[in-house]
Amino acid sequence: MANYIDEFRDKEVIQKIVDNLSNYSGPNLKIMEVCGTHTMAISRYGLRSLLPKSIELVSGPGCPVCVTPTSYIDSALQLSDKKDIIITTFGDMMRIPGNESTLLYKKAIGNNVQMVYSPLNALDLARENPDKEVVFLSVGFETTTPVIALTVYKAKSEGLNNFSVLTANKTMPEAIKTLAEDSELDIDGFIYPGHVSAIIGTDFFSNVAYNMKKAGVVAGFEPLDILYSINILVKNISNGNIILENMYSRIVTKEGNTKAQQKMYEVFQAADAVWRGIGNIKNSGLELNAEYERFDAAKKFDIKIKASPEPKGCQCGEVLKGKKRPIDCKLFKTRCTPENPVGACMVSSEGTCAAYYKYGE
Ligand code: SF4
Repeated sequence: MANYIDEFRDKEVIQKIVDNLSNYSGPNLKIMEVCGTHTMAISRYGLRSLLPKSIELVSGPGCPVCVTPTSYIDSALQLSDKKDIIITTFGDMMRIPGNESTLLYKKAIGNNVQMVYSPLNALDLARENPDKEVVFLSVGFETTTPVIALTVYKAKSEGLNNFSVLTANKTMPEAIKTLAEDSELDIDGFIYPGHVSAIIGTDFFSNVAYNMKKAGVVAGFEPLDILYSINILVKNISNGNIILENMYSRIVTKEGNTKAQQKMYEVFQAADAVWRGIGNIKNSGLELNAEYERFDAAKKFDIKIKASPEPKGCQCGEVLKGKKRPIDCKLFKTRCTPENPVGACMVSSEGTCAAYYKYGE
């Protein structure tokens, strides 16, 4: 396995690609890496610094925790105050600031908030605590949602009545369309998320290239995966070859994971969703369908997810649209640090602000 990874970190091959890219002499290009894992990898390996100034990499809205709006966090905080409720969530969500506090703070003052590694752990808790309601904070893209769907399916099959999910699941296609149509943003090409593509396949991204005239590449996460993908993308754009290339074919297929898609849409259906910084995007989210709606925590506990303002001074929304860099935010490294985050982009392990803080520009 070690050798396998080493092949994707080969210094000589990296140098050849960097040399090739440094010869690029065309117009300035703006390339968006949509996925938070790519953002982290680009910062971690210092890839931005290896590119000529004419090739700019901007980060997109591919961190699921970051795009979850403050209003959702406020609803989760409200639910955690209710008697006999156990809130279960992935670790990053505990530290995202709501308007008044965080789930970590609620836990410190005695509310029952527990971190889990999988929604299936939340189901175990529901079985072990029949006198309590276990609510799982259902956040994530197509990568995470199939296992959440499986969990809700299992809860229904077992007849569990004390388990529910507070949904804020998102799907990538409509968000990509919104960004591709944004003339102010003016993206020349996209590096698409390898994880999401493994589930949904490449057809949608091919359509973006064909119909919206935006070149794209599906990339893996090692330094060579990313640099090689950028090289191909730049070459294609320069030649007017506006297509999608799948550079992660060791994982991603045209059809994607049809079993995972099937399970996801057995339990969920498309719904409008609010993205932090971008706002409401039609059909860019998921809600439980009629057969599973009794597992919807918002309906079960009559939680109305109301719009809440984003933290004062936080530019996370602009960062998620690729319009600003973390260093353009006055709070970056001053009032906002990983120990004391003001916005979601500094909390998440895939957040752009956290990546800039940890690894520099
Ligand atoms: Fe928001 Fe902090 Fe990022 Fe500024 S540095 S945009 S306050 S998360």
